[in-house]
Amino acid sequence: MRLKDKVALITGVGSGIGRESALLFAQEGAKVVGVDLNPEAGEKTRQEILQAGGQALFVQADVSRAAEAERMVKAAEEGFGRLDILFNNAGISHAQDDDAIHTTEEVWDLTFQVNVKGVFLGCKYGIPALRRAGGGSVINTASFVALLGAATPQLAYTASKGAVLAMSRELAVIHAREGIRVNALCPGPLETELLMKYLNTPEKRQRRLVHIPMGRFGQAKEIARAALYLASDESSFVTGSTFLVDGGITAA
Ligand code: NAD
Repeated sequence: MRLKDKVALITGVGSGIGRESALLFAQEGAKVVGVDLNPEAGEKTRQEILQAGGQALFVQADVSRAAEAERMVKAAEEGFGRLDILFNNAGISHAQDDDAIHTTEEVWDLTFQVNVKGVFLGCKYGIPALRRAGGGSVINTASFVALLGAATPQLAYTASKGAVLAMSRELAVIHAREGIRVNALCPGPLETELLMKYLNTPEKRQRRLVHIPMGRFGQAKEIARAALYLASDESSFVTGSTFLVDGGITAA
C-alpha cells in the first residue's frame, strides 16, 4: 500500500483523471476527500470507493470560490484529522480553434477562474494544512499544451495551463524546505469527456492522433498512476517538476 494512512484531497473526482485517481489512491490505502462541482458524479465515485472497502468523503464545491475551497480543506482535517496530499486537478476547457480574435472575454475569464484561480485557492488553503501535518505533496494538473503550440488552438486553456505550470514551480521553490513538494502533472490528449466532446468525429480525432507518436489517446488511469507516484514517498526528491505523461507528443 503506497499511500497507507495518508489523507488525500482530490478535486474533479466526478470524472476522468480525478475519478481514476480517487479510486487508485483509495486502493493504495489513502483516505480520500473527493471534491467536485457535480454532486451526483462525485458521490458516485465515493460510493465506488466504499464498495471496494476504502475510505472516502465527498465535498460538493466549486474550486474557484474561496469560501468553498476553504471548506473542502476543513472537511479533510475535520473528517480525517490531517491532510498529506493535495491534488488540484479540476479543470475546464472550451471550444477548439479559438485564437485571440475568436476567444471571448467570458471564455477567457471563466477558464482562468477555474483552471488558475481554482489551483491558487486550493494551495492557499491546502498548503497550511500540509504544513500542519508536517509536510506533504501537492500535484497540480497542467497539460502538455503549456509546453507546445497545440495543433488545434484553445488560447485561454493553453494560457491557463502555462500559469499552472509557472505557479507550481514557484510554490515548489517557496515550500521546498518545509517538506512540501509541488509538481505539475502534464497529461497529453486523453480519451476523457473534457477532450472527446470536441473531438466528436473520426476526422477530428484523426487530426489530433497524427501528432501523438504513440498513435493513441491516453487513458485517465495512466495519468492516475503518475499522480500516485507524485503523491507517494517514492517521489521524495521530486519537486518543481513538469511531469509529462503524454505519449510522446511534446517530444515530436
Ligand atoms: P473531466 O471533464 O473528465 O473531469 C473534470 C471534473 O472536474 C468533472 O467531474 C467536473 O465536474 C469537475 N469540475 C469542473 N469544474 C469544477 C469546479 N469549478 N469545481 C469543482 N469541480 C469542477 O476532465 P479530465 O479530462 O479528467 O481533466 C482533468 C484535468 O486534466 C483538467 O485540469 C484538465 O484540464 C487536465 N487535462 C486533461 C487532458 C485531456 O485530454 N482530457 C489533457 C491534459 C490535461
